[in-house]
Amino acid sequence: MVQGYTGRFAPSPTGPLHAGSLVAALASWLDARAVGGTWLVRIEDVDTPRCLPGMDALILQQLAACGLQPDAPPTYQSHRSPLYQQALDQLVASGWAYPCACSRKEIEVACAAQGQVRSRNAELVYPGTCRSGLHGRPARAWRLRTDKFKENRPLAHIPPTSVAINLIVNGILTWNDRLLGPQQQNLAAEVGDFVLRRADGLWAYQLAVVVDDAARGITHVVRGQDLADNTPRQIWLQQALGLPTPQYLHTPLVLGPNGEKLSKQNGAQALDLAQPLAALNAAAGVLGLPAAGGDVASALAQWVVQWNS
Ligand SMILES: [Zn+2]
Repeated sequence: MVQGYTGRFAPSPTGPLHAGSLVAALASWLDARAVGGTWLVRIEDVDTPRCLPGMDALILQQLAACGLQPDAPPTYQSHRSPLYQQALDQLVASGWAYPCACSRKEIEVACAAQGQVRSRNAELVYPGTCRSGLHGRPARAWRLRTDKFKENRPLAHIPPTSVAINLIVNGILTWNDRLLGPQQQNLAAEVGDFVLRRADGLWAYQLAVVVDDAARGITHVVRGQDLADNTPRQIWLQQALGLPTPQYLHTPLVLGPNGEKLSKQNGAQALDLAQPLAALNAAAGVLGLPAAGGDVASALAQWVVQWNS
């Protein structure tokens, strides 16, 4: 038993589960079950224009067919706007967040003037234009400062038993991924002040995830490696809000025939509900677990035993 372990799987209802997302679902379920912990499901429908109706129900049905049953009814980010507003209010009051009036075009011009080249994920690093105020322009979005925590400090609220080595030294955030090992990012230089509430009024993924993980007492985040790059922004936000930092494990990605990450966007096939064991065996293989025969329940029971060994 890991005292108080709570994990979660957090799919976006933009398409059905596929071979890639099942790897993350299975890993997070196994990680929780292997220590007698709690496993929750959260529907990440904060980006409502991208969500497809009925997809949440289909995903839950796919999980159930694979024997992955959450310990509580799923929560929906689209129902939690007041909590995100509360967090933003707190960040504004403490000087962490500020309104930004810049359009995408203005940011591109300001970045070009700095000689900035698009590099990281083809995203520009916001040049901090509105840190000093809006100068009469209307607010469009809200951003989080990444220039705080200049001093060298261990991160607060890390559980004493944690294997994480979360530190900020000279603006560089270091954390420990349970699979990838020590990771580093200089948020101010590589990401810049990032958006908490978008110009279209939608909540940014980073804020929603951090608020929800804390609200449900998530101690362990197990998810796909495509999300690893979000971790430093989320740890930064946890620190700014005075929230605990969970432990992170990012699972290997499944690549499609073109060598790119298998995703809903590049046409990954939905899981075949008639063949859940075959889908689970493929996911287990990606996680380095041996194939299992029998039925879904006995396969899962075998992998729970093998997960930490
Ligand atoms: Zn701005």
